[in-house]
Amino acid sequence: MALKALDIFKLLPKTNCKKCGCPTCLAFAMKLAQKQASLDQCPDVSEASKVELAGASAPPIRLVTIGTGPNKLEIGNETVMFRHEESFYHPAGIGVLVSDTLEGDALKVKLEKIRKIRFTRVGIEMHATVVGVVNTSGTAEPFAKAVQAVAALDIPMVLMSTQAAHLDKVLASCADKKPLIHAATAATLDAFIVLAKTHNCPLAVTAPDLEALVPLCEKARAAGLQDLVLDVTSGTVAGTLQTLTAVRRLALKKNMRVLGYPCLVTNRTVDPMVAVAECSMLVAKYAGIVLADLDQPEQLMPVLTVNQNLYTDPRKPIQVEAKLNAIGAVTPESPLLITTNFSLTYYTVAGEVEASRVPAYIGVLDTEGTSVLTAFSSDKLTSEKIAAFINSDEVKSKVSHRKVIIPGYIAVMSGGLKDDSGWTVLVGPREASGISKFLKTTWANA
Ligand code: SF4
Repeated sequence: MALKALDIFKLLPKTNCKKCGCPTCLAFAMKLAQKQASLDQCPDVSEASKVELAGASAPPIRLVTIGTGPNKLEIGNETVMFRHEESFYHPAGIGVLVSDTLEGDALKVKLEKIRKIRFTRVGIEMHATVVGVVNTSGTAEPFAKAVQAVAALDIPMVLMSTQAAHLDKVLASCADKKPLIHAATAATLDAFIVLAKTHNCPLAVTAPDLEALVPLCEKARAAGLQDLVLDVTSGTVAGTLQTLTAVRRLALKKNMRVLGYPCLVTNRTVDPMVAVAECSMLVAKYAGIVLADLDQPEQLMPVLTVNQNLYTDPRKPIQVEAKLNAIGAVTPESPLLITTNFSLTYYTVAGEVEASRVPAYIGVLDTEGTSVLTAFSSDKLTSEKIAAFINSDEVKSKVSHRKVIIPGYIAVMSGGLKDDSGWTVLVGPREASGISKFLKTTWANA
């Protein structure tokens, strides 16, 4: 289990010398506990403490990397059972299964779908982050061809075969992409360990239940493998959820290092909408990779959205940069709208402005990621703040008029803002959906 700040503090020199950049040893201990600092920042920590801290502060669930380069997938290294306790850190890999029985055009169409399904939500692009290539044919040649075609997508791969020889053949040409080898069983573990060590790739291990899985993990660890992934897919989604929860609990609460690895699950439910619901549940509790046959936009989007929402830090609302943004071919005469830096608010406003086809500036105020009404009621969006922004050099250098549009929800501040800024204040619509009409009528006649 991760050490608490006070436990770490007891092992520090307690001289408060500030060499680590923190005002006190306790402050440094708190940063270490939150994984915001590293032990080597304290030059005076004793060797004995280093050994103790390094062992005890190792993450309870190992961070495993699949793939390489900017698209690599990092899973694991989670520290809590529930997101509200702290945060979840490494989003699950959401992947599409590709069978090696697909050939020619059918395979091309499938891969093109995977490549094209992309969504941008609150400014972040979402897409499948892993592909499972399945050796359904049971033969080596089609598997090699499918892997070669999938590798061109430059998305991390899970190579799924029961045959070590087939995997060895494809790994000879793609091991440098660090695919996940899937999956060693009690019968194949020895051969798969050799594969993983020879090709230096992470290995998935699977067994009918946790009791049977533990000795396999022990053996793989004893053989020197560090990057393991546990495939805990069971016959029912309820059974899979139970095992996922048990693994997370045993790793975090019982410090069971042998199960301290991210988990993979495969969902093969035929009804696509049921599959979407099940995959979303699996993301929530606590899959590191979810592989399914979801290759339609309407199927992938809900699962990706759940994944994105769960893996944001609940202590920090998703924010955009506070600055003056231009939408469309703006001129100094273009309207200037004010909003907050809460991502959902900003992108809703920006989307409506874009749809209106009226080029406009959006002035984004730093409200610590809160929405308009929340920011207003907590004094994070005040007339003084807006006045300072619209009279700043940033705005003056781009906007030649002195008319500002504020959200309808803060109409009550219009008088104060006029006095504070000297600008004409136009009260915009309450809801973003009214922006287009407002720009084309009220603004056009202002
Ligand atoms: Fe304490 Fe080490 Fe930081 Fe000095 S450098 S304040 S001894 S933690």
